[in-house]
Amino acid sequence: MVVMKFGGTSVGTATAMRQAIANIAEEKKTGAPLVVLSACSGITNQLIQIAAVAGAGNLEEAKQLVAEVREFHLDLIKELIGSEELRKEVIENIDVYLTRLERLTEGIEIVGELTERSKDRFCSFGELLSTTVFAAALNEHGVRSEWIDIRTVMITDDRYGFARPLVEICRKNTNEIIKPLLDVGTVVVTQGYIGATESGRTTTLGRGGSDLSAALFGSWLHSESIEIWTDVDGVMTTDPRMVPEARSIRVMTFSEAAELAYLGAKVLHPDTIAPAVEKNIPVYVLNTWHPSAKGTLITNDPELLKGKSHGGLVKSIAVKKAQAILNVRSNRMFGRHGFMSELFDVFERFGISVEMISTSEVSVSLTVDDAAVNESFIKELHTLGEVEIEHKVATVSVVGDNLRMSKGVAGRIFSSLCNVNLRMISQGASEINVGVVIDEGDVAAAVSALHCEFFPSDRCDAIFEKPAGS
Ligand code: ADP
Ligand code: ASP
Ligand code: MG
Repeated sequence: MVVMKFGGTSVGTATAMRQAIANIAEEKKTGAPLVVLSACSGITNQLIQIAAVAGAGNLEEAKQLVAEVREFHLDLIKELIGSEELRKEVIENIDVYLTRLERLTEGIEIVGELTERSKDRFCSFGELLSTTVFAAALNEHGVRSEWIDIRTVMITDDRYGFARPLVEICRKNTNEIIKPLLDVGTVVVTQGYIGATESGRTTTLGRGGSDLSAALFGSWLHSESIEIWTDVDGVMTTDPRMVPEARSIRVMTFSEAAELAYLGAKVLHPDTIAPAVEKNIPVYVLNTWHPSAKGTLITNDPELLKGKSHGGLVKSIAVKKAQAILNVRSNRMFGRHGFMSELFDVFERFGISVEMISTSEVSVSLTVDDAAVNESFIKELHTLGEVEIEHKVATVSVVGDNLRMSKGVAGRIFSSLCNVNLRMISQGASEINVGVVIDEGDVAAAVSALHCEFFPSDRCDAIFEKPAGS
C-alpha cells in the first residue's frame, strides 16, 4: 500500500478535490491507500489571523473571518456533493467544528491572551474541515473510504507549534486503527499536520507538517512508497515561481532532498526524509494536475535508480528568505577557548537555532531566522562582545551529491554571482551544498544567474548577453 499526501492547493478548490479523487481512484485499483490531507490552501493562514485578531480583542473582525471560513467550506460542499442527504450530513459535521472555532474565538477575546496551545487548536480546524468535506466527496464519487480523527493516532509531546510524535504509541495506534481498514480495501482519509498529547490536547507539527505526517505513517505502516502530491512537477531545479524555466528532477538521493528541504525548498517539509530513510521507503513528489508525469523519485535504492540519469553536477538551488546575520566580535576570542561554548549557550537559552556560521580569530558571523531576533537575546549577546545585525538577508544554496568530488564548482558559483554583494559564504559539512548569504533584494538576480550557469536555457543568452568578442 501507499501513502498519498495532498497539499493545500491540491484540495483548495472543488476542481482540485475532484482531480485528487481521480488520482486516488486510480491508485485504489492496486490497493487502498492512506490519504493524508492538508487544510485547503489559505485556510491555515486565515486561522492564524483569526487567532491573532481575537487575541488583540477585535471580536467582530474575528467573527467575520470565521464566517468566511464557513462560507468557503459550504461552497465546496455545494459544488462537490450532489446527494441531498449526504450534503446535509456533511454540513452538520463541519458545523460542529465551526461552532467550536467560534467559541474558541470568543474565549480568546475574553481571556485576552493567546498561547501556543490555543494557536494549535485554531490551526487544527483547517485539516479537520478539509478532510471532512473530502471524505464525503470521495464516498459520493464511489470510492469507499473511512474518515479518521488523527488525534486518536498521532500522539505527540506537548511542544505546541512544533510537536513531535511519541513513536511507540503512534506505531501501535497506526497498526491498530489504520492498518485493519486498509487491509480490507477501505481508503482511509485523515489529517496531516495535527496530533494530540497523551492527555488529549491538540498539537501541530509546525507549518508544512503534513508532509512529515505522511512520511511517519509510511514508516509505521512499512508502505511501498510515500507520495507527496503537490502543484508542481516534483522537485525542480529551483522554485519555478522564481525561475519559470526550472526543470523537473527525475531522481534524487535522500541526502540531496533533505539538504534541499532544510535549505529552504518549500516543496518538502525538512523532516520528511528521515522516516523514509529509516525504512528505505521511496518518496515520490508528484503533480496532482499531471498524474501521469513522472515527478521526482527520492531514494537511495540502487535497484530503483538503475537506468535513470542521476543528473549533472548541481541538482537544485534553494532559497531561504527572512534571515538575519549576526556578527559578534570580541577580542576574548583571540587564542582562547570557551568563547564558542558561551556563545552557543545564549542561543540554547533563547531556543534560537543557527543556520549558517563562519568564524575568524576575533569574530563570528551567524545566520538565524529574522523573526527569532529579539531585544533580550541581543542584549545577552552584547555581554560577549560587540554585536552587529543585518536584517532581511537570504541564503541561496546550490545542492548536489556530485559537488563532493567536483573541482571548480565554487569558481563557477562565484563568477556567476560577480554582480551580487556576498555577505557570507559557506560550504556545508556534508560537502553537498555551497551557500551564500545576500540581501533579499538580490535574490531574483542571483538565482537567475546561478540557474543559467548550471541549467542553461535559451532565455539565458538573452539575459546574460556576452559582450562582443568575449
Ligand atoms: P503543498 O501545499 O502541496 O504542500 P507547498 O506550497 O508547500 O505545496 O510546496 C510547493 C511549492 O514549493 C511550489 O509551488 C513551489 O513554488 C515551491 N518550491 C520551492 N522550491 C521548489 C523546488 N526546488 N521544486 C519545486 N517546488 C519548489
Ligand atoms: N496546513 C498546514 C500549513 O499550511 C500544514 C500543511 O499544509 O502541511 O502549514
Ligand atoms: Mg507543503
